[in-house]
Amino acid sequence: MNEPRNDADPIPFYVAGAPRVRPRTLEVRDPATGERVAQVCQAGPEDVESALAAATAARRSLALAPVHRRKSALEHLRDGVRARAEELARTIALEAGKPITWARGEVDRAGDTFDQAVAECSRPVGELLPVDATPRSDGYLCLWRREPLGVVSLITPFNFPLNLVAHKIAPALVAGCPFVLKPALETPLSALALGELLCEAVERFELPAGTFSILPADNETAAPLVDDARVALLSFTGSATVGWQLEARATRKRVALELGGTATCIVDADADLDDVVERLVGGMFAQAGQSCISVQRVLVHRSLAVELERRLDERTRALRGGSLLDDDTFLAPVLRDRDAERIESWIGEAVQAGARVVCGGTRSGRFVAPTLLADVDPRSKVVTEEVFGPVATLEVFEDFDEAVERANSGPFGLQVGLFTRDWPRALRAFERLDVGGVVLGDVPTARADLMPYGGRGASGTGREGVHFAVQEMTEPKVLLVRRP
Ligand code: NAD
Repeated sequence: MNEPRNDADPIPFYVAGAPRVRPRTLEVRDPATGERVAQVCQAGPEDVESALAAATAARRSLALAPVHRRKSALEHLRDGVRARAEELARTIALEAGKPITWARGEVDRAGDTFDQAVAECSRPVGELLPVDATPRSDGYLCLWRREPLGVVSLITPFNFPLNLVAHKIAPALVAGCPFVLKPALETPLSALALGELLCEAVERFELPAGTFSILPADNETAAPLVDDARVALLSFTGSATVGWQLEARATRKRVALELGGTATCIVDADADLDDVVERLVGGMFAQAGQSCISVQRVLVHRSLAVELERRLDERTRALRGGSLLDDDTFLAPVLRDRDAERIESWIGEAVQAGARVVCGGTRSGRFVAPTLLADVDPRSKVVTEEVFGPVATLEVFEDFDEAVERANSGPFGLQVGLFTRDWPRALRAFERLDVGGVVLGDVPTARADLMPYGGRGASGTGREGVHFAVQEMTEPKVLLVRRP
């Protein structure tokens, strides 16, 4: 297993199912301390070309291989992740700056994601259609099934370096698509650990070598993953800015985009504040707000506003810092210096425009204090753009339906959370919200890996969750038969 290490040889990446070493390396650093965690070989243009050529060559044989081989590979990944859970959790903590309790949660989820993929291998993939229901097609029968699209390019972000990789490679294996994965350069270690398991699986279950490649590559080197005509699908998870830029370049291929948002949580007058406060603090500030569904806007009914603000302030001030490997640590750094600086400047801009700092508002290096802002000008960036940091805003509303309309303002549409006990209102909101998902009774940060997950508008296109991602990676093919 490629454990984080300071002094060892650089960790290889994978081309066509085999480890490859290159002299050019990149350093993975702990975002909390800046210390070097590991050194990883970096892929060059020739590695990208070899990966794409091998994936293209493997296309047919992988599609025709019996499903049990791919299923066994997925079982191997699931069991390997579960057997090595603690090592993987430490790896995630150190490369992504994620407190260990949350890192363990991510590993647990990744095991489940692979488990769901194993189950998906036994689902029906087509139908027999009664086309002779119309006299014109008398004498015909029609079978259709889903077939793999072909080579898929998978690009993943830093914030869930294991489970979001699992959400891409698991459906590719279910679908029978050879894949080339480019993990985030800051957090390649979890993906490369999966590469080790994949390497074993490809050999043991006799899958073609070109089934997988994992390439830590810079943007220029990775360009063919977006542009190359051999790629049938680009599946990207990351920021809206990058995602839509890549979509514009990705001609003659399908594109699936899982992007960011400004997730909103509506707290109605009948909400139970004890429950709401605990969930909101986690939703706003866990992992320093670096989740695409981190709570950024809290809309609270006027009758609860003063009390909610007081309790959020009190609870937030009690959040604990410390080593990321300590079970009790909650506070996390943001990944990059430039993000910390940007977040600080967005807070400053909001305050300049009249916002009141309820708590936080300060920064020490990459640690931005969990910050709650009230009376914010709705044109401030902390409202209109994705902060991707530990910053949330508190807005007051009088009328629930008006709050729903406010949650719809802005270009993003990923998830909204609703705390109301009024079922007709909840249903009305569900029908009116322009988002991929509504979470009732919890923050929008809740995600079950089985569900269809993705956004509308600027938040992306396509859905993940293994079953739904398999639909993106396959297409129907028909066998129309004239009876002899
Ligand atoms: P990012 O957009 O900076 O990078 C994402 C990936 O794209 C990385 O692997 C990066 O190296 C790569 N990349 C960047 N520019 C590229 C280019 N020109 N060509 C090829 N690859 C390129 O995002 P990030 O900072 O790693 O992650 C944070 C973002 O991801 C946030 O916006 C967050 O909301 C989003 N996100 C979305 C989901 C979701 O499921 N909707 C989940 C997690 C994160």
